[in-house]
Amino acid sequence: MSDMPRSFPTPIGPDIFARMKTMATTDFKGKRALIRVDFNVPLNAEFQITDDTRIRAALPTINEILANGGSVILMSHLGRPKEGPTDKYSLRHLMPHLSTLLGREVLFATDCIGEDVRGMAAALRPGQVLMLENLRFYKEEEKGDSDFAGRLAALGDMYVNDAFGTAHRAHASTTIVADFFKGNSLFGHLMAAEVANAERVLRGAAKPLTAILGGAKVSDKILIIDNLLNIADCVIIGGGMSYTFFRAKGLPIGKSICEDDKLDVAREVMRKAAEKGVRLLLPVDHVVADAFAADAKTQVCSVNTTPDGWMGLDIGPETINLYREAILNSKTLLWNGPMGVFEMEKFQTGTVSVANAVADATAKGAFSLVGGGDSVAAVNKFDLADKVSYVSTGGGAMLEFFEGKELPGVKAIG
Ligand code: AMP
Repeated sequence: MSDMPRSFPTPIGPDIFARMKTMATTDFKGKRALIRVDFNVPLNAEFQITDDTRIRAALPTINEILANGGSVILMSHLGRPKEGPTDKYSLRHLMPHLSTLLGREVLFATDCIGEDVRGMAAALRPGQVLMLENLRFYKEEEKGDSDFAGRLAALGDMYVNDAFGTAHRAHASTTIVADFFKGNSLFGHLMAAEVANAERVLRGAAKPLTAILGGAKVSDKILIIDNLLNIADCVIIGGGMSYTFFRAKGLPIGKSICEDDKLDVAREVMRKAAEKGVRLLLPVDHVVADAFAADAKTQVCSVNTTPDGWMGLDIGPETINLYREAILNSKTLLWNGPMGVFEMEKFQTGTVSVANAVADATAKGAFSLVGGGDSVAAVNKFDLADKVSYVSTGGGAMLEFFEGKELPGVKAIG
């Protein structure tokens, strides 16, 4: 990754990337960089890492600083320790693999603050890496305690935030610590790319902009839908949340998932879309099943004629064509949430088809961003991650970004 794209405006200032220090404009020679990374990786019962994506995502930043003659102090959380230091949540389990990935020895501090850690940090020579113990062994981390942040800050000469996954939290290490590095804090490559790509959709989108929103519930996505109605030309709805819209429209939905307390919300979305001239696409046909099961009996029917006792678990072929056409006509695409119960093969066609349409639109020159847990899992499952423009690593943080919220971790540096 080279320098930041600088062409799109941001909510944080006239041009966050022009104003701020960046990896490219910072001299790390002889400096100790305190880097907040997101090494909250899944571990198996033997404490082996089962998915190292998050560690790999931070390597470009770490390696560049080391190559520039700096040293690195890594800080992260792991899991949700409730009772202070617990071996299960110790970051020491990551050390062998981290060392392998970096191709060098990594020193480990058995605490994240205190005299011993300070001594280790002060003794770092250029090219050396020190990993601190789990930040969440201190409740002060999640509380955003300023004194705790100050003790972390004392370890480094500059602060680099490369943990987009926690940027929506005003924790000590993600936000408050930046107060101690005024003019001396910056985004790492991952964080910068996440922010730049989200900004590109939110504020710099080539039109038409189409948002594809799926998943189980309207209630999880309502803030995003509401915000996207302000900027998108077309909003495509799929997955379980479609049924709340159908019931709001008075259509039969059988046993499909529905949030009966959100019918007004669905009506309001439809009203706002009409008022703003946003094309709101809902499924016209679907795959219905007689049970929520991989071996259920299925049939395809119009959404106007869902039989009693059946439930919709995927979008149907006519809907796929309709959505594909809208996607291929778009210049910018944001996709969050599957079109059906894609975990079961019988109900994955809609999600695969949308994923392929997004990949095909990208090949035609559209910019596509896939963000949020399950759609990211879907593009990975269908091997399409390298056929879309960007796959976000930050589930909750990306969702809050698209809800239009200012992320504390981003603001602290911007
Ligand atoms: P979300 O986390 O809100 O993006 O929702 C993702 C989940 O929604 C996935 O586990 C899907 O299986 C589920 N889902 C998608 N479509 C449906 C549907 N029609 N009925 C029930 N669950 C669905």
